[in-house]
Amino acid sequence: MNDLTLIAASDARLPTDPFIGRHLIDGAWCDSIDGGSFDRHSPSHGILVSRSAQGTKADTDAAIASARAAFDSGVWSRISGKARATALLKVADLIEANVERIAILETLESGKPISQSRAEVSGAADLWRYAASLARTMHGDSHNTLGADILGVVIKEPIGVVSIITPWNFPFWILSQKLPFALAAGCTCVVKPSELTPSTTVMMGELLIEAGLPAGVVNIVLGHGQPVGARMATHDAVDMVTFTGSTAVGKHITAAASDTLKKVALELGGKNPQVIFPDADIDQAADAVTFGVYFNAGECCNSSSRIIVHRDVADALVEKVVALSRKVTFGDPLNPATQVGAIISADHQDKIDTYVKDAVAAGAEVCLGGAELNVPGLEGKFYQPTVVRNVTPDMPIAYEEVFGPVLSVLTFETMDEAIAMANNASYGLSAGVWSQNIDTCLEFSRRVQAGTVWTNTWMDGFPEMTFGGVKQSGQGREIGSYGLDEFLEVKSLVMRIGQTRAPWVRNG
Ligand code: NAD
Repeated sequence: MNDLTLIAASDARLPTDPFIGRHLIDGAWCDSIDGGSFDRHSPSHGILVSRSAQGTKADTDAAIASARAAFDSGVWSRISGKARATALLKVADLIEANVERIAILETLESGKPISQSRAEVSGAADLWRYAASLARTMHGDSHNTLGADILGVVIKEPIGVVSIITPWNFPFWILSQKLPFALAAGCTCVVKPSELTPSTTVMMGELLIEAGLPAGVVNIVLGHGQPVGARMATHDAVDMVTFTGSTAVGKHITAAASDTLKKVALELGGKNPQVIFPDADIDQAADAVTFGVYFNAGECCNSSSRIIVHRDVADALVEKVVALSRKVTFGDPLNPATQVGAIISADHQDKIDTYVKDAVAAGAEVCLGGAELNVPGLEGKFYQPTVVRNVTPDMPIAYEEVFGPVLSVLTFETMDEAIAMANNASYGLSAGVWSQNIDTCLEFSRRVQAGTVWTNTWMDGFPEMTFGGVKQSGQGREIGSYGLDEFLEVKSLVMRIGQTRAPWVRNG
């Protein structure tokens, strides 16, 4: 594999002591009631990165009780939008002042490159600023056409106590896609980060305290899906659960939440196609395909893990993608030049490898990679940039989420065929179309089943542009003004002006 671009272990200084994470309950940092804790070792460097309190059902109940009391007291839910926005803007400033500290822990716990962690953390500040703008500008609706003596007003109210459950792949970013929007709406929250990446959520808690959020408005419980996440999905004092993670756990949460009929918002997996028509700018498309599959080592709900390319340009495109793949820098996540870091765990690495081996056994061909990558000086798990062609729609690698740096190549001849292949997955998160013909782009965008469609680009995102999936990629939307709406209830106020109401009971 000498023809790949490898970055060996750098001499970056590693922390000597683990980060100690505690629960944040009712404004105070606390250990678990039973004293339990769990450790996280870096998937790239092997060192002990963090030791976190291991939440129990009782810890979770205490956090929920605090969020409930804070909501009902009105200390956050009934203050002005201006006051909420001021606090959110302060948090944004504090995030920017702490980028480096947060980014290093994010990289060590997740294995992602430090340059990417820095960009995610500083980018998260913008999500807080955008949410602050919504806190001040959200409004309801009025009906002045119901008759001379009637005025109808539709107001928006915070939904209440929200459970926020997040995954390991973008811990700080995904938290920032949810929390500031819930807070802008006036909700109070209980947050549970993934057990694999708990620490930057704790750091967020520190910033929230520094920004002056009242006690109980945001509570954090560290620990595992069982019992912490499960309790957050079932407790009758919780009004809504917003979850990002796997489709399998999303289904559990929906079932668990159904007993109390709480609202559930889900951001789940994806099997996102980029479809390349023969008139596309092949150089641009090849670069975007390379970015789409290796970004975050493919451990990304938006990974473009499959391309559907027109037969006439398939050879040229694959050749370019393979050449570009060799130039992508894989290796030590602490080196600022690294573009792709470690795989989250050894088990996950095995799962990725099994998809590739099974596809080969079913007749697919590996053009590049297809095996573990040894990074000199690091004991973590890395996977080679991998391109698999001759993939057919019936192979699991074509329609299941691999969540690794593995690209599947399928080919098509007609628009109908391209649409059928793109829609041939239980997922519907995002899709891309490459063509210089606007009619082709628009027809594809309107017929593909996806929550986001990119045209001649991939993964451009903005706080203003809402995000979410169709089919088994989820329900509900995040960011944008629709992201705020998820955390709001609407209430109709029907008001009579003057004594004009005709009596229902007849007199005499
Ligand atoms: P996961 O489903 O294993 O875990 C996500 C979170 O749920 C963790 O905090 C975990 O502790 C918790 N959890 C586990 N079991 C639970 C239960 N029974 N009840 C309540 N909570 C429980 O997902 P993951 O492995 O951390 O993340 C990878 C998945 O996330 C991928 O499928 C990816 O596509 C998806 N994802 C989706 C988006 C999106 O926006 N659509 C973004 C990022 C990741």
